Amino acid sequence: MPTDDELPEIPVICEDCDTRTAVPFSEVEDAVTRHNEQLHDGEPGAEVDPEVLDQLNDLVAEDMGLLD
Ligand SMILES: [Zn+2]
Repeated sequence: MPTDDELPEIPVICEDCDTRTAVPFSEVEDAVTRHNEQLHDGEPGAEVDPEVLDQLNDLVAEDMGLLD
């Protein structure tokens, strides 16, 4: 059983590179930024899987009480 402080890994996709990886939630932003800087000269390429991003936004909104 995962514990509460174990966060799920987040799928990151890059259509330009045709890659799909999973990185820990806390590193997603850095991973996407680093990928785009190193491989795409800072242009947007990699991004969190849009479907998952929707779910994450809902989760974050719930955490912040925005859906109440
Ligand atoms: Zn890429």
